[in-house]
Amino acid sequence: MQTVNTLHMLRTALAQLCGQSDRAGGRIALVPTMGALHEGHLTLVRRAAAEADHVVVSIFVNPKQFGANEDLDAYPRQLAADAAMLEAEGVALLWAPTAEAMYPAGFATNVSVAGVSDGLCGAARPGHFDGVATVVLKLFNQVTPDMAFFGEKDFQQLAVIRAMARDLDLTRPHVDAIIGVPTVREADGLAMSSRNRYLLPEHRTAAASLPRAMRTAVAAIESGAAIGEALGQLEDEILAAGFSSIDYVTLADSRSLAPLIALGSDPARLLVAARIGGTRLIDNMAVGPARG
Ligand code: AMP
Repeated sequence: MQTVNTLHMLRTALAQLCGQSDRAGGRIALVPTMGALHEGHLTLVRRAAAEADHVVVSIFVNPKQFGANEDLDAYPRQLAADAAMLEAEGVALLWAPTAEAMYPAGFATNVSVAGVSDGLCGAARPGHFDGVATVVLKLFNQVTPDMAFFGEKDFQQLAVIRAMARDLDLTRPHVDAIIGVPTVREADGLAMSSRNRYLLPEHRTAAASLPRAMRTAVAAIESGAAIGEALGQLEDEILAAGFSSIDYVTLADSRSLAPLIALGSDPARLLVAARIGGTRLIDNMAVGPARG
């Protein structure tokens, strides 16, 4: 595996990987990450390897998607350990740009996907999805992958990227496939996240109540409980489990993320963001007969 951190090195490495620029060397899959890799990330890498000839992983802790009071400085960074994990997975290329390589002096462009970015995490973290869309579009242009893999763990992020790809015609030779991968969970059901390592042991134990309570709410809604009541009960259970606050507990249309007050024929999603011990956790689950 080659690790590169300048655009020039990336382009040289991609050209080597593909033979020449006509992609004779095969299909490229991109897996964008912020590093501090866990089994969730590695599952994306394995899916990518199953569907493409070469896997490119990016590791970039993107300052544009962190708010002023968020954990940019504290965000875990462990490039050498991450590189070893990716090497063991057979990844061809690790793109680990410096902040200066990604955002040179004078960088002035902002990509904003209205609507789907606005509610949920977008409301709690103003500007977050502009930062995500901006960096992901740059990554697509830098790597020009045939497909890119994202986790359903960050369900709104996936919806934002799909909307951007549709709106901006990110078809071949850029990206003709945005592939969502189901959330990978710890044995007790907690969704894997680089931020789980912030949790103290007692908070880590209590955090597993979140997916448990969400599953109960999904079952209740699917068996016809009133949405408002089921969501209210879920909020109560989350707070009773030791979470200090809730950013949102919402049932939404899976594609538009517009809040739903009743299940229809379109796929629906239960989405939650809540804080425990100062750490903000998010999770989501499919709801309804379509289980979308
Ligand atoms: P991050 O490094 O947190 O930005 O995540 C990089 C990619 O890995 C994103 O597409 C995430 O949605 C995905 N990801 C993170 N955690 C998980 C998980 N537990 N299961 C599946 N995908 C995940």
